Amino acid sequence: MKIIIHGGFFSESDQSHEVKTAKQNSLKQIAQKAFEYLQTHSAFDTAAYAVSLLEDDPLYNAGIGSQIQSDGVIRMSAAIMDGQTQKLSGVINIQDVKNPIFVAKELIKEDDRVLGGNGAKIYASEHGFENFSTEIPQRRSEYEAKLQNGGKGTVGCVALDKDGKLAVATSTGGKGFEIPGRISDSATVAGNYANSVCAVSCTGVGEDIVSNATAAKIVTRTTDGMSLEQAFNKTFEELKAIDGFAGAIAIDKDGNIYHQDSYPTMVFASFDGENFQVFQ
Ligand code: ASP
Repeated sequence: MKIIIHGGFFSESDQSHEVKTAKQNSLKQIAQKAFEYLQTHSAFDTAAYAVSLLEDDPLYNAGIGSQIQSDGVIRMSAAIMDGQTQKLSGVINIQDVKNPIFVAKELIKEDDRVLGGNGAKIYASEHGFENFSTEIPQRRSEYEAKLQNGGKGTVGCVALDKDGKLAVATSTGGKGFEIPGRISDSATVAGNYANSVCAVSCTGVGEDIVSNATAAKIVTRTTDGMSLEQAFNKTFEELKAIDGFAGAIAIDKDGNIYHQDSYPTMVFASFDGENFQVFQ
């Protein structure tokens, strides 16, 4: 059993030492809690659970604490993918729900598995998800000061369970200040992808991640025989060639854990029951 989570990017220039320490502690606690959950749950359930804990923490740009778009509205996106069945479900630009990842998870049983905007919100209301404002005062101040945070804080989780099954979940409040209607990578196969060999969650500039098809490429390359390291290196070289900016976390079927970013520092933590690895 293995778990790795990310909380987007940390930048020395715009965040304090306190925020860095708070993120290290929060990621460590969430990775440990999710690992405990993994003892008795599937990778699929655990990936959603871990992401919901990250969504509930206002330190991150997902769920509570999501960034505000250019028209003053928060729209969130989330997706989950079961590596075994290769089914992906997700919500794009959903408003006013506490945990977009749980709406995404609920959709896995539907024929229509990715819903956007108002349709996603109506589906959520009909399935018992209460109206909830995810705005925090800090995001409103940033918005009012027209401070573009640059999409730092999307969250994700990759888990490998005791049956050797992989799953991935990703959730985001987007880039901040985007044009309403903009589609994030987080609920696409570029940002969140898994099969029975490998699972990958990304963060960074959604447009770059989609252009590079980052998560799907890493998974495909690993499936075709590359090691995680080789698959990441090749994919990040291609990202560099288009001047792209991203970070990604992964686990393969043998329990290898890997992460890479094109610019320091992606905020991540992994746990295998004995060893923690936390970003520095
Ligand atoms: N990838 C997200 C997006 O572009 C932002 C992020 O990862 O922070 O919507």
